[in-house]
Amino acid sequence: MTAQTATGKQPLVSGEDYINSLRGRKLKVYLFGELVEDTVEHPMIRPSINAVAETYDLAMREPELASATSHLTGERVNRFLNIAMTRDDVVLQNKMQRRLGQLTGTCFQRCVGMDALNSLYSTTFEIDANYQTDYHGRLKNFITEVQTQNLVIGGAMTDVKGDRSLAPSMQADPDLFVHVVERTDAGVYVSGAKAHQTGCLNSHWLIVMPTMRLTENDKEYAIVGAIPVDAEGITYIYGRQSCDTRSMEGGSIDVGNANFGGQEAMVILENVFIPNDLIFMDGETEFASMLVERFTCYHRRSYVCKSGVGDVLIGAAAQIAEYNGVENVSHIKDKLVEMTHLNETIYATGIASSYQSKPTASGAYQNDDMIANVCKHHVTKMPYEIGRLAQDLAGGLVVTMPSEKDYRSEAVGHLLEKYLKGRADVSTENRMRILRLIENMTLGRNAVGYLTESMHGAGSPQAQRIQIARGMQIEFKKQLAKELAGIEERKREQLTSEISDYFGRVFDTEI
Ligand SMILES: Cc1cc2nc3c(=O)[nH]c(=O)nc-3n(C[C@H](O)[C@H](O)[C@H](O)COP(=O)(O)OP(=O)(O)OC[C@H]3O[C@@H](n4cnc5c(N)ncnc54)[C@H](O)[C@@H]3O)c2cc1C
Ligand code: SF4
Repeated sequence: MTAQTATGKQPLVSGEDYINSLRGRKLKVYLFGELVEDTVEHPMIRPSINAVAETYDLAMREPELASATSHLTGERVNRFLNIAMTRDDVVLQNKMQRRLGQLTGTCFQRCVGMDALNSLYSTTFEIDANYQTDYHGRLKNFITEVQTQNLVIGGAMTDVKGDRSLAPSMQADPDLFVHVVERTDAGVYVSGAKAHQTGCLNSHWLIVMPTMRLTENDKEYAIVGAIPVDAEGITYIYGRQSCDTRSMEGGSIDVGNANFGGQEAMVILENVFIPNDLIFMDGETEFASMLVERFTCYHRRSYVCKSGVGDVLIGAAAQIAEYNGVENVSHIKDKLVEMTHLNETIYATGIASSYQSKPTASGAYQNDDMIANVCKHHVTKMPYEIGRLAQDLAGGLVVTMPSEKDYRSEAVGHLLEKYLKGRADVSTENRMRILRLIENMTLGRNAVGYLTESMHGAGSPQAQRIQIARGMQIEFKKQLAKELAGIEERKREQLTSEISDYFGRVFDTEI
């Protein structure tokens, strides 16, 4: 990383630097109806900060994996801020994501920003080519700055959306999608709300983007811009997670994963200013779908993060089986094999999508859309099955175990020590800890990231099925069948010449 940034600030290097950079900011954050004084030290929020801090520490410990050489600055930068200019860059994003999933057992929150920067990079290039605008140059300046300072970017795409059957401009309340409410020579003011924003409080910048394809009538909604997280006019309302207040009870067993957690909040924007040099799309409605599709294409294979989290859950399931003395039983082994098979299927499709990347007009590489959608579609199902099998191996205690306070109490602690024992040579406390981790990942705080985020993040299941249907080339497949069945006499050369789109990428020999 470079020593000094354009703003004269020291760049962030370690996780500790990052955590310190969040202190003293004047964010308007509500939790349980009250303003949060200090988000950094709040016991419910801190685990999510630790998870992001791990992205800094990993870049120090394993720079080949978690940092990259920026084509903009020539310097080593955190991989989450790098624009992927080679196929290997795209592939290494996935490898880093799996590793961080293993290390945190949760959502480490930085991928939305990474995928937003990358999709914007190629989209702004193409808007400029079409309209002679200057978005790409502005974006490059912004990326250079955040790379140099090593900052965290939140990607704010999902609007609250109101009536899902209506376009933004058709809604009863115009604020249900973020839109421009005022224009001046210096920039624009936007209002609206973004839902489910991963790691938003833990970011330094938010990039607001449209959430869906837009029509000519939605011009004021076709706005993309970067906003400092502490900008005037932003209110954050913190999202509850299952069992979240356990982190306010003290102790380290009942929380399951004491150090790491995810974070989502609702972000409300009321007349928030975006200066011209931080606007990367304004009114080019026909490019909204390009941006959304490129973003979701990257993001749907970013969900290999779940295979890293899955590694932890499979490990926990194997560990509880060992603590219970049944690790050598055949059905237990078979269930661990099944969990691994499912988990590797997620990884395999994600990494295959990345390996099948192609350059865009901007030079940035874009991963394969079909396999990215298949990856994400697996993710909407397989973690649930892996979680079911983990609960099977855990036994009912995973949901009926008494609290850590009881275990530590004079009154009944000795009884729990005796009756919660598994194998004689394993401590009761360790058995409790593994059970709580499984609970955390399948029912508690980190089930948000492992299960429901797997379902809806980067688009609900139907969104992937639509993309798969678009790319599945059914007419071409019918031709293959008809030729072999002798229904239609076609020359094999003709079939070969019809290879295009997805199959064009599959059979491309220039890799
Ligand atoms: C934990 C978590 C973290 C997230 N992080 C981020 C983030 O950092 N940034 C970000 O921008 N977004 C984020 N998301 C948002 C995510 O992309 C959305 O949840 C997803 O796009 C689905 O939108 P929704 O939640 O509004 O669900 P809904 O749109 O309400 O969908 C509910 C159901 O209705 C169906 N449906 C909706 N609209 C239609 C329609 N018009 N026609 C037919 N069926 C329809 C859906 O297919 C689904 O089955 C996150 C989500 C989660 C759960
Ligand atoms: S859900 Fe996964 S891909 Fe999305 S931000 Fe969290 S860790 Fe990254």
